[in-house]
Amino acid sequence: VDSHRAPREKLGPRLVRGALYTYVRPEPTENPELLAVSKAALRDIGLAETEGSSEELKQVVAGNKFYWDEEKGGIYPWAQCYGGFQFGQWAGQLGDGRAISLFETTNPKTKVRYELQLKGAGKTPYSRFADGKAVLRSSIREFIVSEYLNAIGIPTTRALSLTLCPNSKVVRERLEPGAIVCRFAQSWLRLGTFDLMRSRGDRDLIRKTATYVAEEVFGGWETLPAVLPADTKDAHLDPTRGVPKYQIQGKEGAEENRFSRLYREIVRRNARVVGMWQAYGFMNGVLNTDNTSIYGLSMDYGPFAFMDNFDPTYTPNHDDHMLRYSYRAQPSIIWWNLVRLGESLGELIGAGDRVDETVFAEKGVEEDFAPVLIKRAETIIDQSGDEYKAVFLSEYRRLMTLRLGLKTQKDSDFDVLFSELLDTMEALELDFNHFFRRLSSVKLDDVSTKETREKTAERFFHQEGVTGLNETNESGREKVGKWLDSWRERVAEDWGTGGSADEDRIKAMKAVNPNFVPRGWLLDDIIDRVENKNDRDILHGVIDMALSPFQDQWGWNERIEEKYCGDVPRFQRAIQCSCSS
Ligand code: AMP
Ligand code: MG
Ligand code: MG
Repeated sequence: VDSHRAPREKLGPRLVRGALYTYVRPEPTENPELLAVSKAALRDIGLAETEGSSEELKQVVAGNKFYWDEEKGGIYPWAQCYGGFQFGQWAGQLGDGRAISLFETTNPKTKVRYELQLKGAGKTPYSRFADGKAVLRSSIREFIVSEYLNAIGIPTTRALSLTLCPNSKVVRERLEPGAIVCRFAQSWLRLGTFDLMRSRGDRDLIRKTATYVAEEVFGGWETLPAVLPADTKDAHLDPTRGVPKYQIQGKEGAEENRFSRLYREIVRRNARVVGMWQAYGFMNGVLNTDNTSIYGLSMDYGPFAFMDNFDPTYTPNHDDHMLRYSYRAQPSIIWWNLVRLGESLGELIGAGDRVDETVFAEKGVEEDFAPVLIKRAETIIDQSGDEYKAVFLSEYRRLMTLRLGLKTQKDSDFDVLFSELLDTMEALELDFNHFFRRLSSVKLDDVSTKETREKTAERFFHQEGVTGLNETNESGREKVGKWLDSWRERVAEDWGTGGSADEDRIKAMKAVNPNFVPRGWLLDDIIDRVENKNDRDILHGVIDMALSPFQDQWGWNERIEEKYCGDVPRFQRAIQCSCSS
C-alpha cells in the first residue's frame, strides 16, 4: 500500500512487495460517450433502471468521479497485484495493468456484494510496458460476452457499461479508439494472486489472504464442505470417452483442515464452470493462472470464442500454436492451474490439525514434520483432482442431458448419445450450438421413419453448402438420421409420445439452447458498424439479444436478428483472435 493517493505521474511501473494492491486514481475522460448499459447489471447491483441514464453513473464509469473526499474520507480506487503462469511459464508480477477498482457495493435485496472496476482507465503501477488502455473493439467483445454468459447461467465477471473515450487514440496494430468497460464481480482474486505470494515466499500473506477468501469472499469457513470421492479409479477428463462411475461422499478425513476445505471449494467451483463451458462450446483462449478465478468465474475476455463447427482442436487464440487452450485441452489446463494453487497453499493444506501450531513459526516447518506435511498436501491435491473430474463431468452431463431434451440420465447416454453426436458433428463439420437449437424444434413425428429422419437431418447442414451438401452428403444424412433414431427413443422414454409431450419438450429445450450466440464473426460485424459506420442502435439491439438469448425473436430488426442467429457466413467460421486488445 505504498502510494496512497500519489499523483498519477508518480505511479511508474514497479515491483510491489508486502501488499496485494496499490491505491491509484483513474485517468479522467473528456467528453465520454456512454454507448451501452446492461439492464441486467443495473438490476443485479441493485440500481434502478433509470440510474442507467444518470449523469452520476456516466461520470463514475468514465473514471471522472469516485467516492473519496479529502475531508470526509470514503474509498479511494485501487489496483490489484498478482502474478501468473502464462502458457505454462512463470511470468512474475503482473497485476491490474489497466483495471482500477472503485468500490464494493452490496445489493440490499440479494445481499450479494460486488467489486466494481474500470478496465481501460489508465496506467497503474502494474502496467509494465503497456499503456493502461483498452480499445473499443475488445471492450465491445468483453461487454457482450460477460452479460451473455451470465444470461445463459454460466458464472462470470459482469459488465455494467461500455464507454467510448472519443479523445483517446490507442496504438495497437493501428491507431484505434479507446474505451472503458465498467465491470464487476464477487471477487477479482485469481489463482495468480496466490502464485505471486508463493514466489515472494510470503507465507504470512498467503495465510491472511486464504483466510480472507474463506471468511469474506465465500462467507465463512462453515460454508466450505469437505467432499471426498470414494471410487474414482477410472476417472479421466474426456467426456467423449464415457462416464466413469462416481460416488461422491462427504467425509472429513483426519488430514483435512479448514484450508484443504477452502482449496476443494475453489477446485469444485472451477470444475463446475469448465463443465458449463464445454457443454456450451465456450472457450477462453488465454487460460493462464492470472485469468483463473478464485471464485470460479469465467474471466478475462481477450481471445475467447463459442464453437462454430464442432472441432475439439479449435483454439480461439491465434498465437496458441501448441493448442494449449484448445477446446479439448481446457479441462486439463484449468486443473493444471489448480495444482499450482494447491502448491501455493501446500503448507496450509498439508499441516492437518497442526495448522495453528508453532510449525508455522517464522523459520518454517520443523524438520521431521516437513515430509509428513508434503505427503499430506500431495494426497489432498491428488484427491481434489478426482473430485475435480467428478464435478466437471457431472456438470457437463447435467447440461448435455438438458440440451438434448432429456429428463433423466442413463449410463448409456454418454456413448449412445453424447459421443455419437460429437463424432458426427466433427465428421460433418456441423455447427455445435445451432445443432442444439435446431434439434429443439424437431417433433417426434419428424423422425419416426428412416426417410423422415434423413430429411430432418438436412436442417442441421449448413445452408450455404460448406458442410453436409458435398460428396459425404448421402452418408451424412444417414449418419445424422441414425443418431436421430437413438435420440427419438430416449426422448419418447422420458416424455412419452402423446398429448403435449412434443410441445412441453420443445419449450424445455428452447429454454436451455440459446438462439443467439455471440460468435466471432458477428462480433466483428458489430464492431465494424460501431467503429466505422457510427451505428449505435446495433449495440442496443444486440445487448437485448445477449440478455435474453433464448427468445425466437426480439422485435428490433428482423433482418439483423435472422442474420445473427443464422448460419455462420462461409469463410468466417472458427475465426481466431490475437491477444492485442
Ligand atoms: P492478459 O493476457 O489479459 O491476462 O494480460 C496479462 C497482463 O497484462 C495483465 O496484468 C494485464 O493487466 C496486463 N495488460 C494487458 N494489456 C494491458 C495494457 N494495455 N496496459 C496495461 N497492462 C496491460
Ligand atoms: Mg489477465
Ligand atoms: Mg486480458
